[in-house]
This record gives sequence, structure tokens and C-alpha cells, in this order.
Amino acid sequence: MSGFADRSVLVTGGASGIGRAAAIRFAQEGARVCVADLNGEGAAAVAAEIGASAVWVQADISTAQGNAQMVAAALGAGGTLDVAFLNAGYLGPMGGFEATDEELFDRHLAINLKGAFLGLKAVHGVVADGGAVVVTSSTAGLLGLHESPAYSAAKHGVIGLVKASTPAFAAKGARINAICPGGVETPMMGSADQAIVTPDMLRRVPLRGMGSAQQVAEAALWLASPAAAFVNGQAHVVDGGLLSTFVPAP
Ligand code: NAD
Repeated sequence: MSGFADRSVLVTGGASGIGRAAAIRFAQEGARVCVADLNGEGAAAVAAEIGASAVWVQADISTAQGNAQMVAAALGAGGTLDVAFLNAGYLGPMGGFEATDEELFDRHLAINLKGAFLGLKAVHGVVADGGAVVVTSSTAGLLGLHESPAYSAAKHGVIGLVKASTPAFAAKGARINAICPGGVETPMMGSADQAIVTPDMLRRVPLRGMGSAQQVAEAALWLASPAAAFVNGQAHVVDGGLLSTFVPAP
């Protein structure tokens, strides 16, 4: 992999899980990385782990002001942004449709969908010609996740948003794609109700089991790299084959 030397890269949700793994990988490829997260302490720790080529910012993706802060912190000397990995997200308590109230629904939409929209608005004004944007959706953005209709609806929305925004980014010479991880071992999965990740679900993954943050980060890096120069406007599934076919549990 190459193509990130001296590039300015913004990673949201960079304090943890997939975002942390991606921030470290972009930096290993020579990028100047901005680690952005609501968890400022975590973002600072990841930036310190990376070293001098990283900066960090504490900001909330669900507000326009938060996104403006993130983009301002990430801008390179030329005042442009080469790559944005809009990856921060929220998964609340499980419980299905009947347990989902208006407040829980609004919170999922505010962070996962409106957050992606506001992130794209902030990035669009400064993205470099030849730049790339990757937005994290989920396999729950392609197949209904009955344990969390609000999360699933928001992540479906992210894919629609990415597809519909593709011409606007192309007009700036930039590409935009969504990435759809399946079950990935991160703190999000550890803190959410474990109803999603059951032994039965894991047996249904053709590659058997959960993915790693590193594996998803590698896919995000490829999507953002010049190697993917003609890959645009699509949702890319990284799930070990979960959605590919029906594998009966043994
Ligand atoms: P994680 O909990 O390890 O990381 C998520 C990060 O987002 C955290 O550092 C958190 O502080 C940050 N964040 C949350 N709300 C924020 C806000 N309002 N503003 C700024 N930062 C905020 O989880 P992860 O698994 O690495 O999740 C990364 C992305 O991948 C999310 O969008 C998630 O929905 C998606 N995803 C995860 C899985 C999985 O199995 N782990 C599967 C599919 C999709």
C-alpha cells in the first residue's frame, strides 16, 4: 500500500476499535493523521501512540460545530483534506422494535446518520482533488438488524447518503464509498447487549467468527488509496461472508 505519504487524513471515532486501527495504519503509510473522537482522552492516547505525525481533537460528530472542529484540526498546510474516514458511530441497548422508544431512535439517527451528513458537509468544502471519503455503515445497513431497528435504519441511511452524495464529491475530483463491517471485535461489541453476537450467529459466518478492527481498517485504507481510483459510490461489505449466503449452523 502506498499513496498516503504527507497526505492529511481525518479519522473520526479514532480513539477506539476500527478508527484506532485505521489511524495507526494511515500513519504507518506516511499520512498526517487527525484522530477525532468524543472521547478526547482516548484520541490523545492514540495520537501519542502514533507520534509526531498525529494530532487529535475532541469533538462531537452529531453537531455541525463538532464536525467543523474536526476538519479544522485535520487540514494540512495547503488547507485541503486528502482523506476522511467518517467512522464514529453509536450502538445503543438492544431490545428490538417494541423496546425502541423515540429518544433511543433519535439518538441513533443523530449520531450515525445526521453525524455522517454533517461530516460530509464539513469535508466537502475542503476535500482535495483526488481525495477520498470512506463512511462506516454496517451489514446492519443492508440487512435489517431486528435487535436494533434504530441502528439498522441509521446505517441503511448512511448508504443512501453516500450513494446520493457521490456526484457532489466527484465534482470536486473526490471519491466516496461506504464500508459495511459485519461482527468485529471492538469495545462497541463488548459494551452493547451481546444479543447480536451469539454463538449461532458466529457459526453462520463462512469464515467462522468475528473480524478484527485491523481487518476492517485494511479495507478502509484500500478504499481510500489510489489503488481504488475507479471504485466509487458503493457499499463494500467486510463481514467474513456473513451476508453472502445462508450457512446452516452446524
Ligand atoms: P468503538 O466503540 O470501538 O468506537 C467507536 C468510537 O466512536 C468511540 O471511540 C466513540 O467514542 C466514538 N464516538 C461515538 N459517538 C461519537 C460522537 N457523537 N462523536 C464523536 N465520536 C463518537 O466501535 P467500533 O466497532 O470501532 O465502531 C466503529 C464504526 O464501525 C461505527 O460506526 C460502528 O457503528 C461501525 N460498525 C461496527 C461493527 C462492529 O461489529 N464492531 C459492525 C458494523 C459497523
